[in-house]
Order: sequence, then structure tokens, then C-alpha cells
Amino acid sequence: MEYVNTRNKSYQEYKEIIDKETEIELEHYINKMKNKKAAMVNATSFGGGVAEMLHSYVPLAKDMGLEMDWWTMKGSDEFYHVTKSFHNCLQGQEGRLTEEAKKIYLKYNSLNAENIQEWNYDYVIIHDPQPAALIDYLDTRGKTKWIWRCHIDTSLPNEEYWDFLYQYIKKYDACIFTMRDFVKEDENLNKLNFITPSIDPLSSKNIPLKREEAQMIISRFGVDINRPIITQVSRFDPWKDPLGVIDAYRIIKKEFPSVQLVLIGSMASDDPEGWDYLYRTLRRAGEDYDIKVITNFNGVSHIEVNAFQTASDIILQKSIKEGFGLTVSEGLWKGTPVIGGNAGGIKYQIEDGISGYVVNTVEECAERAIRLLRNPMIAEEMSEAGRERVRKNFLITTGILNFLKLFDELDD
Ligand code: UDP
Repeated sequence: MEYVNTRNKSYQEYKEIIDKETEIELEHYINKMKNKKAAMVNATSFGGGVAEMLHSYVPLAKDMGLEMDWWTMKGSDEFYHVTKSFHNCLQGQEGRLTEEAKKIYLKYNSLNAENIQEWNYDYVIIHDPQPAALIDYLDTRGKTKWIWRCHIDTSLPNEEYWDFLYQYIKKYDACIFTMRDFVKEDENLNKLNFITPSIDPLSSKNIPLKREEAQMIISRFGVDINRPIITQVSRFDPWKDPLGVIDAYRIIKKEFPSVQLVLIGSMASDDPEGWDYLYRTLRRAGEDYDIKVITNFNGVSHIEVNAFQTASDIILQKSIKEGFGLTVSEGLWKGTPVIGGNAGGIKYQIEDGISGYVVNTVEECAERAIRLLRNPMIAEEMSEAGRERVRKNFLITTGILNFLKLFDELDD
């Protein structure tokens, strides 16, 4: 395995942002965890939400005074090919798990364990299926508490893949899923825990931007900052429903002819499905120049996403199926009202009618957006409530606190 070095983070800076209760609780658990050592293990240090999250989690935990290391697996194409099928099939895709695939999976788990000289951790958190079998090769039972953290939606998994993985995860001292809906009811895993993903308020994606600064950034993309702006940030994927977003916008446009719609999505060059869906979205947008479809190829990176989330009047995340939907917390954190689809973790982040709206249809989505555009006071109240909801529940400091609480429970 490979040791990952991270940039420094200062907990002091986070203390100025988080709520007092979380700070006090953190202090308590940090003191209890002094001299304990933890390790995070996942498949890669670049690309994907898990890596992005660990780049914040690990240095922040270290600066809090915890001993935390981060290891990633060494792999090759044959291993990634197999683990990609694990990912897809655990989310419900059909397909057979061959003996050859099992062999490759176990070979790399065993090889990765071999080059570890010393493994003297009190807690090891294994992320996702790729390193799940390490427990068989590095098991130091009695000393190390093993925790498996699942980031994917395993509510309706392909049984063959799930059964294979299950023989490993049942050995873990604790398992963490994002939501209860993601675990089959009949499973009898040790210490089942539910912890949501969280956002880093000091990353370039979420760092506070002045409205004028944000407006300056977004005006480079041809958006008129003097007219209402509705934005959805998400991959071009049927489950994110960009076509439904355009349909809702068309209803809103009848009431608010000046409204503009921005659809932002990053494109992976190896994702043909994403391209197909981008073209479908462009066709649905047609000749309407108040619809801006922007991708990473137009220069949208973290700070630009931040600017659009900050300077828009409304953020949409009209997903039909969703794991968690980080874009929802990102929008709420910037004080922008969010309208989200009634799916997965979205309904958990938005308290309907308080911090935003949760909708089931295109018409409902349009109706709520019109309500917000007509009543800036409602939008303002929601923005306050939304920000507080994220501060309390969906910042990485709360994420770390939840881990510490679990460590503590495992010691009892
Ligand atoms: N994102 C981005 N640029 C884009 C589209 C998405 O930076 O063009 C980010 C977005 O801000 C969020 C993440 O990618 O942090 C997507 O996470 P989410 O949980 O919303 O959806 P997923 O893509 O994981 O299904």
C-alpha cells in the first residue's frame, strides 16, 4: 500500500465556523482519543468523492491532535476492472461475479497487505469494497478495531456480489452506511452506524465568496447577473434529471420571462453515457439562449462552482435517484435556497418548507421556484435555516465527531 501525504489544515480556523455544541463534543472525544492511532484505507488518493473527503478529513483530524494515517491500495487495470464491476453491481447492475474476478480481487488485497511492515492501529477504517478483504490479511484482532465504511447505495445490490463481499464485512467490528435505506434489512452486521458524507467549509468549493466576487466570476460565462439565475450543478446523467430541470424552467419562464437557467456538469473523457446525456440536454435546451450549459471544458472548476452556488437565486438538484447529493449541502451552506428531488439523501438535507423544498414532479419544482422568486423574504428565511442545518449536520467537523463517537463506543 502507499502512504498518502496531505496538506496541512488548521482546526483553529474551523472553530470559528462550527457550532459551539459540536466544538465541545469534539474536545471531549479528542481528549479521550489521545494516544490512539487510526488509519484510513481506500483505493485512490485522486479522483472521486472519497479521496476528496479524505484530503480534508485526515489533515484536520491530525491537527486536532489525533494520530491518523491514510493508505491507498496499489492496483492495476485488471484490479480496477474488477472493482468497477463491484461498484456497479453493488448498486444493482446485473452481471455475474466470475471465479477469475474473485481471484484478482483477493490477489490484490493480499499483495497490498504484504508490503505493510507495521500495522499497529487502534482503529482502521476501510472505505468501500476495494480493500474490504484486507481484514483477512492484516487482521490483528484483539488490538485493532476494524470499521467498514460504505459510500455507495447498496439498497438493491446484485446478490452474487453482495454475498461475496458480505463474508468479509461481517467480520468487521462496525459498518457505516450513509443511510438506513442502503442496508438490506435482514443483514446482521456488527454495530451498524449511519454517517452522512460532509462538506469542507474551507475548501475552494465552499470557502465564503463575496456576492460581488461570485457575480464577477459567473458573468464570465455569459450570465446576466441582473436577472434571476437558477442553477443545477451535476453530472449529465438521467438520474440527475437535467431534462426535467429544463421543463421546470420553461414553466417558470412563463411567469418570470427574465429568468436564466445554468446547468453545470463535469465531463469525464471516458464516460460516453455522460456525453450522450449532455447532447440530449443541449437538444432539449434548443435555441433558448437563457439556458447556459457549461462543463469543465469551459473552465468550470471548484471556485467557479462555488461562485454559481453563491450568486444564483435558486439551486436545483432535481434528482430522481440520489446517494446523498453533496451539491445540496453545498448550496444550502452558501445561503442559497435549494429545491431538491424527493430522493435518497436529499430529503435528509432539506427540511421541506424550512430550509428549502423537496419536490416530486416538474410542476412542483416550477411552482416552488416561482414562489421563491416572488417572495424574497421566504428565500432569505430559508437561507438562514439551510445554512444552520448544514453547520450542525453536514460539515466535516461533524463527520469527524461521528467517527470519534464510534471509536469510543467500540472501546466499551
Ligand atoms: N461537481 C463539480 N463540478 C461539476 C459537477 C459536479 O465540482 O461540474 C461536484 C459537486 O460540486 C459535488 C460533486 O461533484 O461536490 C458531486 O457530488 P454529488 O454527491 O452531488 O453527486 P455524485 O456525482 O456523487 O452522484
